[in-house]
Amino acid sequence: NRCILLASRPEGMPDEGNFELVEEGVPEPADGELLIQTIYLSVDPYMRGRMTGVRTYISPFDTGKVLTGGVVGKVVVSRNPNFEKGEMVTGNLPWADYSLSDGKYLRKLDPEAAPVSTALGIAGMPGLTAYFGLLDIGKPQPGETVVISGAAGAVGTVAGQIAKLYGCRVIGIAGSEKKTSYLQQELGFDAVINYRTENMKEAVKQHCPDGVDIYFDNVGGPISDMVMKRINYKARIILCGQISQYNLKQPEQGPRLQGQLIQRSALMQGFIVSDYADRHAEGIKQLGQWLKDGKLQYRENVVNGLENAPQAFIGLFHGENLGKQLVKVADE
Ligand code: NDP
Repeated sequence: NRCILLASRPEGMPDEGNFELVEEGVPEPADGELLIQTIYLSVDPYMRGRMTGVRTYISPFDTGKVLTGGVVGKVVVSRNPNFEKGEMVTGNLPWADYSLSDGKYLRKLDPEAAPVSTALGIAGMPGLTAYFGLLDIGKPQPGETVVISGAAGAVGTVAGQIAKLYGCRVIGIAGSEKKTSYLQQELGFDAVINYRTENMKEAVKQHCPDGVDIYFDNVGGPISDMVMKRINYKARIILCGQISQYNLKQPEQGPRLQGQLIQRSALMQGFIVSDYADRHAEGIKQLGQWLKDGKLQYRENVVNGLENAPQAFIGLFHGENLGKQLVKVADE
């Protein structure tokens, strides 16, 4: 049983030396437990925060211990009456070929309803983040202008498509031509900005002639400063992520934006998807329905092999993924 440990805490950008692959025996399930074989594991930007050793809304990872994250797996041995061998499940589990669970926090998946990998992306945590952030905080109205940063990633692609379903004009910001053309040509975004090649100030002005009513922020930093300059009266700013800041050794000192909020009577609100834990079932149901009806599309960037999970994780901070970044550990 191969496992991936956090070998050391990253300083700045994480590298492969921060991780270590070790082998140990396959664990034996006790009475009430299941042995799960990992099929897919999810790499997510929030995991970077857990590697720093500081407690935030979630406890830090310990060095020398196996990392944990979103997993889709198959029950290979069940000593729990609620699960059968062969069933597909998702939950927060170790980065390992096999792991044990008492089944308490697992959700069963129906492979007929949607590909099981979607439980880690569009029909899972990132999808729910887009759904609740946009609808609950953003409250989109038809005709409003919605700007999304990190638009071509797991959360951004869903947030943008939901905003389109609600009749908004959607502008996506992303870091490559491949990503911006995907957003515009395949997902129907109204306009796109490549923040690496375009002048952000000019581009936001050009594509948001009537200002910005909703800003769904996945990245923070200078990209957000430029969007904030164009917010409208009663704009809503959804603070979902700040990926541009996660690997900085010193926090950045940006322009002070609070004045902008006062002048425009705007709302800026942060959230964590687990705030909506009691409504996750509603979100999963709606996202699943939209998927089934063909109203939402998704892309996955799949890296093969547990041993490549660190590289896939690091790739998130270099923009290597279009859509949801996954690691495929075994065949279904
Ligand atoms: P993504 O799939 O969007 O992957 C990360 C992307 O971020 C990269 O592909 C890259 O795209 C972009 N990026 C990386 N570094 C920078 C940078 N310095 N400046 C600008 N863009 C950068 O990840 P997720 O969709 O899973 O997550 C998106 C955001 O949402 C993250 O900030 C994450 O922490 C947050 N989040 C928040 C949750 C919550 O509960 N509040 C829950 C889940 C996620 P590009 O090529 O465009 O640069």
